[in-house]
Amino acid sequence: MQITPIQLTWARPVDGVKFAESATGNPILEYVTEREHPVQHRLSNLEDPTAMRLVNATTNDALLAFVGRFGLLDRSGGQRHNFVGTIGYHRDQITELLTMTALPPDERIGRSNALLQYTVFKPTFEMTTQGQQRLVLLAENLVDFMFYECAVAIDVGAVLSACEHCNLKFLTGPLTGRRSHAKYCSDRCRVAAMRTRRSKNVAAEEVR
Ligand SMILES: [Zn+2]
Repeated sequence: MQITPIQLTWARPVDGVKFAESATGNPILEYVTEREHPVQHRLSNLEDPTAMRLVNATTNDALLAFVGRFGLLDRSGGQRHNFVGTIGYHRDQITELLTMTALPPDERIGRSNALLQYTVFKPTFEMTTQGQQRLVLLAENLVDFMFYECAVAIDVGAVLSACEHCNLKFLTGPLTGRRSHAKYCSDRCRVAAMRTRRSKNVAAEEVR
């Protein structure tokens, strides 16, 4: 299965981010220093989408790590902060988009389109290593980039699941590198769960 890739030329903070307060007293996440590194985001499959990283960034520490690694969600006007409330709002939208596959098509299409309505991309061509042209979409910010990841997930019918061992959310099905109905987020969790089951069985044997 082939998808049109998307790319985002972005920046991440060199010295991390911290929680602070805006001039109006609202919680924000801001660069610790002004220094930033350029970073390229590119999607060509759903094996490790940035959107899933944000969905799983549910603690303050995880959110700091997410922005430190992938950058702010929006940097319009060169800003070096985001409102925490806005990040949470987008995280909720992304989580909802990733549950759309479970809905009947009429509900899914209406709701998905409503959530995606402000997303903007620029189509452009690049040269492949074989000297062929390839269509690539350019995103303007990390929110739009992640919304496209969600749109691809809906398009191919990927399903949002929670790992039975560590509770991390992950995608299964086409382009995800995982079979549908996978119970664990990774081989590591699958093996760990098997060990736990075995030791429980051994304990049960010993009781008998
Ligand atoms: Zn897991």
